[in-house]
Amino acid sequence: MAEEAEKEITTFEDFKLNRQLLNAIEEAGYEKPTPIQLKAIPVIMGGHDVMGIAQTGTGKTAAFLLPILMKVKYAQGMNPRAIILAPTRELAMQIEEHITLLGKYTDIRHTVIYGGLGPKTQIETINKGLDILVSTPKRLMELYLKGELILKEVKTLVLDEADKMMDMGFMPQIRQMLEVIPRKRQNLLFSATMHPKVVELSEEFLEFPTRIEVTPQATPVETVSQVLYQVPNLRTKIAMLEHIIQDRETFNRVIIFTRSKKNAEDVAKFLERREYGEVRAIHGNKGQNTRINSMEAFKGGEVRFLVATDVASRGIDVTMVSHVINFDVPFVYEDYVHRIGRTGRAENAGAAITFANPAEMYHIRKIEKLIRMRIPEQPMPPEVKIHEITFEEQQAIARDIDHQKRTENPDFKGAFHEKKGKHKSNFEKGKKKGDPKNSVWQKTKKKGSRRK
Ligand code: AMP
Repeated sequence: MAEEAEKEITTFEDFKLNRQLLNAIEEAGYEKPTPIQLKAIPVIMGGHDVMGIAQTGTGKTAAFLLPILMKVKYAQGMNPRAIILAPTRELAMQIEEHITLLGKYTDIRHTVIYGGLGPKTQIETINKGLDILVSTPKRLMELYLKGELILKEVKTLVLDEADKMMDMGFMPQIRQMLEVIPRKRQNLLFSATMHPKVVELSEEFLEFPTRIEVTPQATPVETVSQVLYQVPNLRTKIAMLEHIIQDRETFNRVIIFTRSKKNAEDVAKFLERREYGEVRAIHGNKGQNTRINSMEAFKGGEVRFLVATDVASRGIDVTMVSHVINFDVPFVYEDYVHRIGRTGRAENAGAAITFANPAEMYHIRKIEKLIRMRIPEQPMPPEVKIHEITFEEQQAIARDIDHQKRTENPDFKGAFHEKKGKHKSNFEKGKKKGDPKNSVWQKTKKKGSRRK
């Protein structure tokens, strides 16, 4: 196949990132670069200025952070060599968390500073020495003007969500800063829109920029009906899945999406064991040929269920998919649109069903923002047994929710207040959660008389 013959960039390895970063990427559960990452990482690593048009949810943060982490490489000196500016403290904190996640096997020192609280602790951290600094524009200039921040070693500057920064009136601080940092540097500007003010800024700020754009497919096709069920935990998700697929006639060609390879394997094995019909799993660990064969069999109607991770979702071009079931909510929000676009193709009516646990509801709200619509919600059918949540899962969900609250409000102190730098990604938490043998997959009882 063409894909195999050519040496185009398709994986994170192809970017020639160092081992520390590749290991962190793997642990974060990122199987494959997103479109913005595919486009931006090589250009940024080539040292060019970039004007990126991409929304939150596309993977844009890692698109600029990975090349920066490569360039900064390790702890060195006292002063920041990369500055990332973000309009809000929420976004600034999210960016810093990404640095923690992706830089976990490096010794790179980083911190985030923002207004709204006294600068004392922030100054203390800065004084210990720093490689990457994430900041909101005002606080950065405040500390610079106080003489607490030395900016003469800055080699990379990122303006994230530049359109929002313009809207919030940060232009004066940005101009001021551009005057005090070294002229010879790499500039990266990201914006969700091509606002005229952003174009103006980019002309002032970027040198021969490469323009990179990913227009999110933000509007789901109209022929797809969507429904959301709030499902409290994994066991209940399994029960719910089992309940809805009983109707073999309606649910005749179903794609089930999961966030991790492990969940894809587990769901596929579960359906196989219960003999609900032919099943194939496709994800990053499956070879190209296996994936193609599975897809062909699914297309041909010999396979009832295709269980897939998002990596696989873009390549699926099958008409007559009766249903897409989102067993897990995707964290790359755009993927939601890609996923549900697999059904309702070519004017056929399709249906997309999403299961979301309490922690995933946070991401549902973000997805709804992206698609600019509310996903219609339905109560769980009364016949479906609500299973008790395992202690481990309860902890994981509570930790996720705490983490979300802290991101929205840094002063929030939750039950799972973790030390800085100790945050684990949702992916990671999911991954470590035990092997299939002890898992709820085995414990879930088969329904009624369907026992083998
Ligand atoms: P962003 O658009 O940068 O806000 O990223 C949205 C979400 O996608 C974050 O939760 C990231 O951790 C996640 N993410 C970024 N890159 C990837 C990838 N290649 N594969 C899977 N998830 C990713």
